[in-house]
Amino acid sequence: MNYHSSSGLYVHVPFCLSKCPYCDFYSVTDLSILNAWLEALEKEAGLYRDTFGEFDTLYLGGGTPSLLEPADLEALLAGLRRHFHFHSHTEVTLEANPDDLSREKLAAYRELGINRLSVGVQSFNDKDLAFLGRRHTAKQAAQVLDWARAAGFANLSLDLMYALPGKTEKDWRETLERALACHPEHLSCYQLTVEAGTPLGARKARGEFQAAEEDLEEALFLLTSQFLEDHGYLHYEISNFARGEENCCRHNPKYWQHVPYLGLGPGAHSFSSGNGAQGSPFIKNRVRWWNHADLERYLKALATGAAPVAGRETLTPEQLRLETLYLGFRTRRGVALEDVQGFGNWEAALAELAQAGLVEVSQGRARPTCRGFLMADGLPLRFGD
Ligand code: SF4
Repeated sequence: MNYHSSSGLYVHVPFCLSKCPYCDFYSVTDLSILNAWLEALEKEAGLYRDTFGEFDTLYLGGGTPSLLEPADLEALLAGLRRHFHFHSHTEVTLEANPDDLSREKLAAYRELGINRLSVGVQSFNDKDLAFLGRRHTAKQAAQVLDWARAAGFANLSLDLMYALPGKTEKDWRETLERALACHPEHLSCYQLTVEAGTPLGARKARGEFQAAEEDLEEALFLLTSQFLEDHGYLHYEISNFARGEENCCRHNPKYWQHVPYLGLGPGAHSFSSGNGAQGSPFIKNRVRWWNHADLERYLKALATGAAPVAGRETLTPEQLRLETLYLGFRTRRGVALEDVQGFGNWEAALAELAQAGLVEVSQGRARPTCRGFLMADGLPLRFGD
C-alpha cells in the first residue's frame, strides 16, 4: 500500500442544506455566514503557515463541501495555497451529495484540481433514501456518477449504508450490485448507527422502527467483505474497500498511522508529531488538538486573531503505543510485532488470536482477518497486562 509520510490537510465545511435525521456531525443550515467562514478559514490557515512542511493530501469534508459554488471553492483553494505547500501529486478529495451536483459544476471542480470525489450515495433504493432523509433519488445518484466520469474524475468513491431497519441480506447484495455497476474505484460501507440525540434516535425511542439485530449486522458485514473481495476490491480498513492498492484513500491512513495532519474549520482535529513544526506557538511534540465545534465561537476566535482551539492533549509514548494498536487493528495492514512486544504476555495473546482465526501473523506484522475486524476494538484488550 502506498503510504506517504507527508502531512495531510483536512478542511471541515460546516454547512448543510438540511440535517439528515441520523447525522451527528457538526454542521449548520444557515448559509448566510458562508463568506465569513471562508475569510476566517484563510486566517486560520495563516496561523499554521510553514508549520507542517508539505501536504500531499487535501480532504474537504463536512458538512457538505459540494454546497460550495466553484467560485467559493476557487477562493478557498487559493487561500490555502497562499499559506501552504502542496506536493505536485496531491490527492484532493471533495465529499459531495448527489443533489448538489450538475454536469457544469463537476467540470468546474475538476478544473480546479479536485481529483477524487467521495459521493454520499447511501443507497440505490428510494425508500431507503426517504427513510434516511436524503434529498436525492437513486436515479440522481447514478446520473451524477456518469457526469463525474464525463468530467474526467478517475477516482470515485461511494458511501453506502447498510443494516437499515427491515432490510435483508438480499436487499443489501442488490445495493452492492448496483454500486458495482458504476465501477467505483473505492467504496465506504458504513453500518447505520442510530445515535441517541438525533431525530432518528428519537423515532427509535418512540418505537417507530426497530434497529437490525446484531446477528444480521454481523452477517451483513461479512457478506460485504466477501462480495467486494470476490469482485476485486481490497478490504483495507473496517469500512473501506479499494479496487487495488493504488485506489486506497491516501488521506485517512494518516489518521491511522500518526502521520501529522492539520484540520481547519469548526470541530476539526489536528495531530503533530513535532516534525516540521518548529517555531509554531501552537504545536509541540505528539500533540492532538481540536477546534470549537461551534461556528460562532470559531468565527469569534479568529476575529481576534486567536486559534479557534477548544482543547489539546499531549500524548505520552505509552498512549501513542496503545493508540497504534487500536488504530492498527482496524486496518488490514495491522500492527508491527515490535508495537505489541512489551504488552503483557503478548506472545500468548497473539497465539490465541491466531488460533481463533482473528489475526494472521506474517512478515513481522499481526493483521486482523475479516472476522477479526468484527471485534477490532476488542483485540488490543487481549494484550492487557
Ligand atoms: S448531508 Fe452529511 S453532514 Fe449534512 S446532515 Fe446529512 S449526513 Fe450529516
